[in-house]
Amino acid sequence: MNVVRTKIRVTGIVQGVGFRPFIYRIAVKNGLDGYVRNRGDAGVEILLEGREKNIRKFLKDLKEEKPPLAQVYGIITLPLKGKNRYENFTILRSSEEAELSGSVIPPDIAICDECLKELRDRENPRYEYFFITCTDCGPRYTIIERLPYDRGNTTMRDFPMCDFCKSEYTDPLNRRFHAQTVACTKCGPKAYLTNKEGGLIANKDNIQEAGRLLSEGFIVAIKGYGGFHVATATTKDEPLIRLRKVKHRRQKPLAIMAESLEAVKSFAEVNVKEVELLTSYTRPIVLLNKNEDYYLSDLIAPGLHNVGVMLPCTGLHYMLFDKVDEPAFVMTSANPPNQPIIKDDDEALRRLCDTVDYFLFHDRQIAHRCDDSVIRLHNSHQIFLRRSRGYAPAPIILREKGKRCAVGLGGELNNTGCILLGNRAFISQHIGDVENLETRYFLENSTKHLIRLTNSKAEAVACDLHPKFTTTKLAQNLADENGWQLVQVQHHYAHIAALMMEHNVKEIVGVCCDGYGYGLDGEAWGGEILFCTRDFPEFDRVAHLQKQPLVGGDLATRYPLRVAAGILHEKVDLQGWLLQNQQHFPHGEKEVQIVLHQLENRSRIIETTSCGRVLDAVAAVLGICYERTYEGEPAMKLEAAAIKGKDILKLEPMIKSDVLDTTQLLLEVFRNHKRHSKADLAYSAHAYLARGLAMLAIEKALEHNAKTIGFSGGVACNEILALIMRKAVEASGLKFLVHEVVPPGDGGLSFGQAIVASFS
Ligand SMILES: [Zn+2]
Ligand SMILES: [Zn+2]
Ligand SMILES: [Zn+2]
Repeated sequence: MNVVRTKIRVTGIVQGVGFRPFIYRIAVKNGLDGYVRNRGDAGVEILLEGREKNIRKFLKDLKEEKPPLAQVYGIITLPLKGKNRYENFTILRSSEEAELSGSVIPPDIAICDECLKELRDRENPRYEYFFITCTDCGPRYTIIERLPYDRGNTTMRDFPMCDFCKSEYTDPLNRRFHAQTVACTKCGPKAYLTNKEGGLIANKDNIQEAGRLLSEGFIVAIKGYGGFHVATATTKDEPLIRLRKVKHRRQKPLAIMAESLEAVKSFAEVNVKEVELLTSYTRPIVLLNKNEDYYLSDLIAPGLHNVGVMLPCTGLHYMLFDKVDEPAFVMTSANPPNQPIIKDDDEALRRLCDTVDYFLFHDRQIAHRCDDSVIRLHNSHQIFLRRSRGYAPAPIILREKGKRCAVGLGGELNNTGCILLGNRAFISQHIGDVENLETRYFLENSTKHLIRLTNSKAEAVACDLHPKFTTTKLAQNLADENGWQLVQVQHHYAHIAALMMEHNVKEIVGVCCDGYGYGLDGEAWGGEILFCTRDFPEFDRVAHLQKQPLVGGDLATRYPLRVAAGILHEKVDLQGWLLQNQQHFPHGEKEVQIVLHQLENRSRIIETTSCGRVLDAVAAVLGICYERTYEGEPAMKLEAAAIKGKDILKLEPMIKSDVLDTTQLLLEVFRNHKRHSKADLAYSAHAYLARGLAMLAIEKALEHNAKTIGFSGGVACNEILALIMRKAVEASGLKFLVHEVVPPGDGGLSFGQAIVASFS
């Protein structure tokens, strides 16, 4: 008999996905002895003793039958000398050894069908147990403090298993064999309900009671896997008015959690692809078009044609709906303005006691916070508005390896961090707006945590070109501390670099539209056409939108009538029009006079090529939105207004010296605003910009002999623009690319920066 010994190292997402139990089963099946164990570098080590042909069969099984959530990046086999030492196959205690890089733990996974069945089964010991999980589901990224993934390294450490749970944990044939989150009513975390002061409310069924309170119009803070949500009813206005008032969120859409797919269909349109997303184990919030019968409160997503919906993702969420007849609950992240989602109980009590009526706590700590992900579809194309829970920190796999390991720290708004190691990019969970210390710490900690988890040895750190961004300063500090090279990447270039590597193209003409990015010349860019090749970090700005004045700088971003005034100055009776609209200026007539005065003495007005500001101005001229109370509001409302419109103006794009005119566009909208419907004018404005940008991009692609045109930046979330642009580009025989795995907005910026730093 030809008996051999082999050591195998597997890298990838192999901890926390039932990988060791799987290895155990295929080893036993193939009659092999030895062991399997987790390692401190997030990989798995296997030692096999047995016949050579059985080991070959084992390796075949490993590749072909691995658990659905496992991802294998590499398998290294090393023949060993010496005599056989094992008489059976076992799962050994994990080793702290960390030597290989690039493995990582999985994201949090929504409750699986088996667990859901048990949750509803009266005979099951975990009947109605809110924290029911197994090797196929449950929290992962948010629960793990350090590697290897063992219970002692997670926040389950505080809950020793009872005999029943232990018997399942140690049974190789059980679904919970070595499931680190295994728990039950007897030994696991407990949920409890309190009033807003934190005073315990005694109850038999706390979770169902919380559901009842929600349905009655109370506001309840609910602790989940990755942080607190603030929840309330969706069919009543009163709690929403109250919630918006205390959260200082006048208009920003609130995400909701629907009871079931059937419930979703009662108020929104859902296609096959959207059903797939809603029910996938990542359970993102999906933006769905409201249907004709939409009956939820208009205060959920005011002025928008769509609403963000997710399905329950934990046992607790399912139980909230048990005793009530509600289609959905509002389920919005609990965070103070511009700060990260709240994860600790005392912080929740302190920060939310003025907002909520009750708290639904559980007594397990959250190791890492993680917001919900948000996705929308443009036809069948998936667009990430936020890539977080369910996705982070699983890597994006590039088809080419970077030259060195690099860290990207992103920009300022909607930020993330990113580590690019080899051909894998690990993007952090959603961090938020990095304008204050709390978010800065969150970014720094999450990035360092990712570096540790992946065992990366960074050589460069990338950030924005903006000299005053908090992230720029953080990058400088990290570069000094660690001896890393500092690479500053222009904002729009980072967007296009991300798109280029996501699709592995050698060159691209990239249309990058957003609100603001610091340009190479120090000016405000935001409607750019760049020609980019793999010669990182070189790129050409080949065309852009017309520069327009921003009267009052940041004030113009807040009050889009100011942008419109700047564009229409000397073209219409501006004074008359602004005075008619003076109620939309916080200081009324006095402010109008100042705006007019500033325009007369143009000297101190900054200018921008931003596409976002042009859309804002159109929204203001059409009376769709006069104040931006959240990022992208005027443009989002303009898109909502345009969704049922048609191109009534049919304006021919005006292009002069590689600049697309936007003054003429606004003027035409202004002149026609009494003649045509808002919907048609809003659509016409989209059509002009999309066709104009496409024409410019096609011209530049032909000039540079490029075959591909891409669309990136926050504005690329706009479906109407993306679809018109795609049509024009494809009609010219060129390929049109959009982001599929990273957000087109600034959540994808850290990824683009890391690419430029790694490949240059
Ligand atoms: Zn499960
Ligand atoms: Zn138990
Ligand atoms: Zn941007």
